[in-house]
Amino acid sequence: MAIFTVVAGARPNFMKIAPIIHAFQKKQREGVEVKFRLIHTGQHYDKKMSGDFFEQLNIPEPDANLGGGGGTQAEQTAAIMVAFEKELMENRPDLVIVVGDVTSTLACSIAAKKLGIDVAHVEGGIRSGDLSMPEEINRMVTDSITDHFFTTSEIANTNLRKAGVPEEKIHFVGNTMIDTLLAQMPNFKKPEGEIFDGLEAGNYFVMTMHRPANVDQEKSLKDMIDAILSGTGGLPIVFPVHPRTAKNLQSLGINAPNLLLCEPLGYLEFNYLVKNAKGVITDSGGVTEETSVMNVPCITLRDNTERPETITLGTNELVGTNPQNLPPYLEKIMSGNWKKYQEIPLWDGKTAQRIVDILITHYS
Ligand code: UDP
Repeated sequence: MAIFTVVAGARPNFMKIAPIIHAFQKKQREGVEVKFRLIHTGQHYDKKMSGDFFEQLNIPEPDANLGGGGGTQAEQTAAIMVAFEKELMENRPDLVIVVGDVTSTLACSIAAKKLGIDVAHVEGGIRSGDLSMPEEINRMVTDSITDHFFTTSEIANTNLRKAGVPEEKIHFVGNTMIDTLLAQMPNFKKPEGEIFDGLEAGNYFVMTMHRPANVDQEKSLKDMIDAILSGTGGLPIVFPVHPRTAKNLQSLGINAPNLLLCEPLGYLEFNYLVKNAKGVITDSGGVTEETSVMNVPCITLRDNTERPETITLGTNELVGTNPQNLPPYLEKIMSGNWKKYQEIPLWDGKTAQRIVDILITHYS
């Protein structure tokens, strides 16, 4: 019988593993002989960044939580590697499945490969070329030891071919994050709380920011928020604040009644707000994929992206980290003059099914 270990550690992992877990459970219900263990590395541990997603996305309780959160990049990587190696020695699978580009992705793929266990990387092959972001290092190292690449785009396939990855290791399957988005869309719900009461569909913005380049320097964070406030005509701006951003934001003393600050939202509430927004301003990668599929204008506050298909086919524009770039883009959204979503190949809600079919065939 094929045995798989699925790893998740941080917020953007949970929406990527949920449909994979559900596809394994479906196979089990159909009588296919397959076992899986779900391991939470504990990289994100508070309820708003972790527990709520298990509940909302119907992910079963993990078989183990490695408690590897906190500390520096190296401390976290080391703690997760030590605990995951032990987990693998006690419960050796045929394959470890890692997703995305977080510290857990890197740490667990290394621990597995060093024990001679195959690694599958879901969302393999994407590249921003920006080594100042820890995520890019995580992607490059993970892909250098991956056995099965499950890719979201033709560009990812091309990147892998250029790096000499043989064709049989590249499986172009689509995007599991979009599986979750399409499956959960009927369940989206308005967040509770007075601050959301006055929001009218199509008449507010949503923003998220958590990249060090945008939030670690108080002055640049303030300049960016000021530029956003002055280009959005006084419309409400809902800003669920990532824990990383919270401490600097408090000391800025921004006093704008239309800037609606709140804690990180649940998946169903956040995407309810995004789906009905006039526009989204973000530095998140996953959000650019979701806004594209929901045909909501999206401004990305980064100088590069590992997801260029969200620009060529989606609704995303790369505006950069300089606040002076913002006004013409905000004007375009305000005047309702934004590009429309064109289908991105295989972002159709069936990606996890394809992944699980390929893996079960390979390991049975
Ligand atoms: N998200 C959420 N609540 C929020 C902000 C984001 O559920 O308050 C979701 C969002 O819909 C997407 C994911 O979190 O699915 C993106 O995570 P994040 O921005 O942390 O990671 P990145 O995409 O930048 O790697």
